[in-house]
Amino acid sequence: MKKKYLNDCIDSTFVSSVGKYVDLFEEQFASFVGSKYAIATVNGTSALHISLILADVTKDDEVITQPLTFIATCNAISYIGAKPIFVDVDLDTIGLSPKSLREFLETNCEMIYNHCINKTTNKTIKVCMPMHTFGHPCRIDEIKEICDRWHIVLIEDSAESLGSYYKDKHTGTFGKLGVFSFNGNKIITSGGGGVIVTDDEALAKRAKHLTTTAKVAHPFEYVHDEIGYNYRMPNLNASLLVAQLEQLDTFLASKRELGLKYADFFVSNDDIDFIKEPKNAKSNYWLQAVIVKDIKKRDEFLEFTNKNGIMTRPIWKLMNELEMFREAQCGDLSNAEYLEQRVVNISSSVII
Ligand SMILES: *Cc1c(COP(=O)(O)O)cnc(C)c1O
Repeated sequence: MKKKYLNDCIDSTFVSSVGKYVDLFEEQFASFVGSKYAIATVNGTSALHISLILADVTKDDEVITQPLTFIATCNAISYIGAKPIFVDVDLDTIGLSPKSLREFLETNCEMIYNHCINKTTNKTIKVCMPMHTFGHPCRIDEIKEICDRWHIVLIEDSAESLGSYYKDKHTGTFGKLGVFSFNGNKIITSGGGGVIVTDDEALAKRAKHLTTTAKVAHPFEYVHDEIGYNYRMPNLNASLLVAQLEQLDTFLASKRELGLKYADFFVSNDDIDFIKEPKNAKSNYWLQAVIVKDIKKRDEFLEFTNKNGIMTRPIWKLMNELEMFREAQCGDLSNAEYLEQRVVNISSSVII
């Protein structure tokens, strides 16, 4: 990793809450994904939390997401006190299925004064938060259309999909807000970090305000005009990201090359399907994954690889099966259940 900017950041003594690298990073990141604004945060989870606040989600509201995701998506919803609803994923994108979303809404909801009301709970469904699993874009344009029709705000959990495009548009830029993560396992990392992207100037300003303790700009006085959060990204971390943005194309090329090699390798294997980028999409191949069609063989595959020093692991448990979300309302989750039993992540490191 290049240390030039990190050293410069330390030498400047501006290592914490202000400094040029945060501004530089926000500018360069927005330009890379093609959004008007980017607001850096301390991690991806806090970026999701703030995005839900920006979409006016309260403890009495509901948020639709997919059961096949990393826990951070559901944690952020729970920080608000809001309730998640789980609808199924598509088998090819392994991300939220527009068909399942539409079916859930048509069966369970009605529009009352431009609010999407869940007839079972009488609560408002304010937000839909799909996730681009392992960097494979879901059918986000169709999802957006459905959300628009039902007056549901679309927030993309793009934590895993930096460098992934759907129909030539960067993931995270379809919804009102998009969120990325720079945790250690992500495609670029600042140790920990996150960002919110949006084209809406007012939301961008409020995102900055809320993530920086809601301090009113003043040369020397401390005035805060609401309960804010200390969710800003330190300048030190931003200097790491500015350096890695310069290498991002190389990282992406390496991930893609590895993905294509795996696709080639598994093509003749009848038991195992390598998960390739879906139609109309360009994936960053962040986390490489296979589907072992026979469940018994999945366990053999896990045991064999791990015993031989190759780390592989099964996909996350479904969120609706975790203790905290067992009561959550769900659509039909057949695809998610099928995938949960069969998907295995395989070595995915960038080789440069
Ligand atoms: C990594 C990740 C996040 C954010 O995680 P942080 O560790 O808080 O940066 C959110 N959602 C998904 C799906 C993720 O993979």
